[in-house]
Amino acid sequence: RVVFLNGAFLPADEAKVSVMDRGFLFSDGVYEGVGILGGHLVDNEPHLERFERSMREIQITNPHSRAEWTRLEEELVRRNGVAEGFLYIQITRGVAERDFMFPKAVDPTVMMFTQAKSIANSPAAETGVAVITVEDQRWRRRDIKSVSLLAQVLAKQAAGDAGAQEAWMVEDGFVTEGGSSSAFIVTKAGNIVVRPLSNAILPGITRKSLLRLSKEAGITLEERLFTVQEAYDAAEAFLTSASNFVLPVVSIDGRPVGDGKPGPLTQRLRHLYLDMARVPAEA
Ligand code: PLP
Repeated sequence: RVVFLNGAFLPADEAKVSVMDRGFLFSDGVYEGVGILGGHLVDNEPHLERFERSMREIQITNPHSRAEWTRLEEELVRRNGVAEGFLYIQITRGVAERDFMFPKAVDPTVMMFTQAKSIANSPAAETGVAVITVEDQRWRRRDIKSVSLLAQVLAKQAAGDAGAQEAWMVEDGFVTEGGSSSAFIVTKAGNIVVRPLSNAILPGITRKSLLRLSKEAGITLEERLFTVQEAYDAAEAFLTSASNFVLPVVSIDGRPVGDGKPGPLTQRLRHLYLDMARVPAEA
């Protein structure tokens, strides 16, 4: 496997980063994750747009133009021959003597890798996944895709320990989002409910595309907060992310959602999304 590190494509085991990297010492960096389907990057433009925004928000100088990022991503996918899977991009503030304040004149550390895996025909899409709810212990700028993911690591480990696949994080009784996904429910009236964008959640790219597709399909959408109890009582539930697309949620805290099987609207939305994702974006 080849990875990209600071301008070079290298065998993964030769790509090394200093122990003084601020990503390692302070989680001083941001990242992005993009799905790969049929050898192309899904929704890549909005992912790069969010990546650029994350860099701006933490004042890392973006070392590449949009066209350069795209070329580097596509070259890595091509070199690794990935037809289906995931591309990870990370940038940190760089390597410097340990000091909280920004170092002057350091180059950021830029790294990308790919993972080949089946994401369109995943078994979880057929069976649905279980989620548990946990307290949202994160900071207040969750709109920035920061590499500081300790709260999510603990939340998702708690989910795994409980035999679930995702943790839905809860603040003041309302679901914020999943550990690495956006959270949705479907009401008994057939409306989609999703939390509105704010600093409390990451602006999911899959969420955004799915909302556009739902509107085009004439499905009623309620962008509002929802409680854990509402999620228990929902007709259907699902999550979205770049590496899972649309995934049915069939139980929450051990209680079956609806009849405990992937819901019909969820399956329709998954197909709508996949039909869109299979078509490469216009250059
Ligand atoms: N929310 C969080 C906290 C995430 O980490 C992710 C993805 O990793 C998402 C939502 C889903 O975002 P996207 O659809 O852009 O992958």
